[in-house]
Amino acid sequence: MRAKVAKDYYAILGVPRGATPDEIKRAYRRLARKYHPDVNSDSEAHDRFQEINAAYEVLSDPAKREIVDLGGDPLAPGGGMGGAAAGPFAGFQDIMDAFFGGTSTRGPRPRTRPGADAIIRLELDLEETAFGVETPITVDTAIGCTACEGAGTAPGTHSTTCDTCMGRGEVQSVQRTLLGQVVTSRPCVTCQGYGTVIEHPCPKCAGEGRVRSRRTITVKIPAGVEDGMRIRLAGQGEVGPGGGPAGDLYVEIHERPHDVFSRKGDDLHCRVVLPMTAAALGTRMTIKTLDGEEPVEVRPGTQPGSTLRIRGRGVTRLRGNGRGDMYVHLDIRTPTKLDAEQERLLRELSRMRGEEVIEPARHPGGFFARMRDAFNGHA
Ligand SMILES: [Zn+2]
Ligand SMILES: [Zn+2]
Repeated sequence: MRAKVAKDYYAILGVPRGATPDEIKRAYRRLARKYHPDVNSDSEAHDRFQEINAAYEVLSDPAKREIVDLGGDPLAPGGGMGGAAAGPFAGFQDIMDAFFGGTSTRGPRPRTRPGADAIIRLELDLEETAFGVETPITVDTAIGCTACEGAGTAPGTHSTTCDTCMGRGEVQSVQRTLLGQVVTSRPCVTCQGYGTVIEHPCPKCAGEGRVRSRRTITVKIPAGVEDGMRIRLAGQGEVGPGGGPAGDLYVEIHERPHDVFSRKGDDLHCRVVLPMTAAALGTRMTIKTLDGEEPVEVRPGTQPGSTLRIRGRGVTRLRGNGRGDMYVHLDIRTPTKLDAEQERLLRELSRMRGEEVIEPARHPGGFFARMRDAFNGHA
């Protein structure tokens, strides 16, 4: 913190040292109207407005004015009045922070505020999530008003400093209590706490500085996104009040169920019906994948519940390389409608294999073991 000479608060308001409270108030009003940031967008006006408020705060308070008259500065950190942050004027610094970007909630609230995030739901087919897609989406968000460029004022007009609160956005009331004076501040009702009043609102946005708009943008969906994921498009959300910076747009992915494939992570699963005879004798078949066909071989003696894996025919991995796998679950069917000849052949087979009568007694271990394994899910 650099040391500095006490500020000349009288010079800032342009009043003589002997000015009456009334003269100080009039000078302050005149300057505040001229330099309020909503009225005067000059970069220097900001600093000037801050100075003017500080000067008024000091000179309108007899105790603080006395410090100035004694050559001190009641607003300087540690300005002859004890500790800085804990000093009696720490509260005033809070007000200034609120004016100029601090965290305090006091002081006039800015008309320009950041916008909210928006979310849009996007339904995609499995082929699109698996391989990525570029798709147009229609979004309905607030955008900046081009007529007033966010100011909210009708063309050729300006907002004016609020007369009720003199641009402070809050009004103070003093109550006398047993413990002394208690000063409370409330947001100004005339200007809703903005410190300025828009007498002629922009006809296009009704003073909001933003308007709702429906627009179509193209969004690039990367390969491998999953149901429920959100893709963030920075700065495509709602423009804030007073044309404030836009929030983000989140595109939430919803994957439509596929007729054939179900997805688990990067892997795909499908079910293929296989006749008992083909499972017993083995066969070749062609499996349709998301992007083509794949020949697979079923080994002789394939059991119900068997699964074939086709490597690299799943969904593109969102992070990392390559693709997941495809699992073909074999649904082995026993024939139902047998004609006479087919039944004769099966009976012949059954007889040759000694399977006409299954007697648990004759197959003690095997028969029960298989049942137990089936119930435990190890079949
Ligand atoms: Zn407007
Ligand atoms: Zn006001």
